[in-house]
Amino acid sequence: MTRHETARALGATVLTTAGAVTAFHHLWWETGVFWALALVLVPGAIRERRARHGRERRARIEAERAELATRGPAPLPGPCCRIWKSSEGAAHGADCTRPPAARTILRDAEQRVLDQLDDDTRDTA
Ligand SMILES: [Zn+2]
Repeated sequence: MTRHETARALGATVLTTAGAVTAFHHLWWETGVFWALALVLVPGAIRERRARHGRERRARIEAERAELATRGPAPLPGPCCRIWKSSEGAAHGADCTRPPAARTILRDAEQRVLDQLDDDTRDTA
């Protein structure tokens, strides 16, 4: 907690308690004054708290970015299938290890050629 945040939260707590004590003794206008002053301090405490959390979050993100920058670029993923490698990432084959939603969809003509190639390789093997 910052010094301002602590001071505002402590002040609001003390004023709220003082208001409760004066309410217990039926001193109503003093109760109103204490609680009104507490209500003045609470938004400031909340604002200070949010600003502190924002500063901490920004510092954490900057530290993560600096750490990532020292690591260098991420390694490229390995080829998932032979068709992907030979088509330079444009299409995937039947032996692809990627989930179907992540694959590039072949057009009908491309799929027919791929099936024909697959049949030809089975016949020769
Ligand atoms: Zn693939």
